[in-house]
Amino acid sequence: MRSENKRPGHNAIKQWPRGYQILFRLFIALLIAVGSNMLISIWFDTPKIAKIKRDNQRLEAQYDILNVKIAEAELKLSDVKHRDQYVYRPLLGIDTLAIPQVYAEYNNSKYADFAADSYGDIIEDTWRRIDRLTRNLYYASRALDDTQDMAENKEKFSTVIPAIWPIDRTKLRSVSSLYGMRKHPRYGTWRKHEGVDLSAPKGTAVYATGNAVVSFSGWKPGYGHLIELNHGFGYKTRYGHLSKRHVVAGDSVTRGQVIGDVGNTGVSVGSHLHYEVRYRDNTVNPIHYFNKDMSPEAYIELMKQLEVSS
Ligand SMILES: [Zn+2]
Repeated sequence: MRSENKRPGHNAIKQWPRGYQILFRLFIALLIAVGSNMLISIWFDTPKIAKIKRDNQRLEAQYDILNVKIAEAELKLSDVKHRDQYVYRPLLGIDTLAIPQVYAEYNNSKYADFAADSYGDIIEDTWRRIDRLTRNLYYASRALDDTQDMAENKEKFSTVIPAIWPIDRTKLRSVSSLYGMRKHPRYGTWRKHEGVDLSAPKGTAVYATGNAVVSFSGWKPGYGHLIELNHGFGYKTRYGHLSKRHVVAGDSVTRGQVIGDVGNTGVSVGSHLHYEVRYRDNTVNPIHYFNKDMSPEAYIELMKQLEVSS
């Protein structure tokens, strides 16, 4: 296909010296060769490029498999974590483990290098997941140490936890005041009652409710003569308004040991024992610690009695 306007050009070349004509034709041929080569390489990969592409595809596939495996591990670990937080710890009465490093912000500069990479997103994402997994694994192993420690000490734990009535129940006149908000019998103001009041005759023996070390034995405003026991594992008990104290700070006591006598000292109306159970320095309802040595019948009887008095 030759157009009319190309003819003069063609004729002009024919007028060139023969050497130039050959050089010109060679040049054109070279151009065509280079050009077609370029076109072919655009449409078809060279063996080298094809290999790199295959490698990349394999790499991507491997990253996918890796991420699936990480996801499986994450799932298993979250199950372990859940059981730790919602089963073992409540069962053993220990706080949720808090390791600040586990929840700390990630250092993003660590992943900055991947940004320039064409597969940077996949690599960064995978790295982050592995980092998260490593942290959670660390958390889980620490949590396991805790629960293992508790399980090994379980025998000890069962002897120290407050688990009996602080007085002989046959001496109990009534549970005169419950744990929680109440109108103060002396001041008439509403405030939280930090323990239970067990009304009993003056001189009634007061028992340590679990093995412990006496952490306080003396006079405390409001409480009158007070004994505080430290049971370990975060538990403390307090016995207030005593008429007599039979132990001093530092003494070791065993469950059921007489530590004092019921009285009416401090801010008190009538002879009674003010009994507190503290867990990690917060008072808890002692009622939950009474039923450990009670028959179901006795517990129901107590509940009836509490309904009447409250
Ligand atoms: Zn009280």
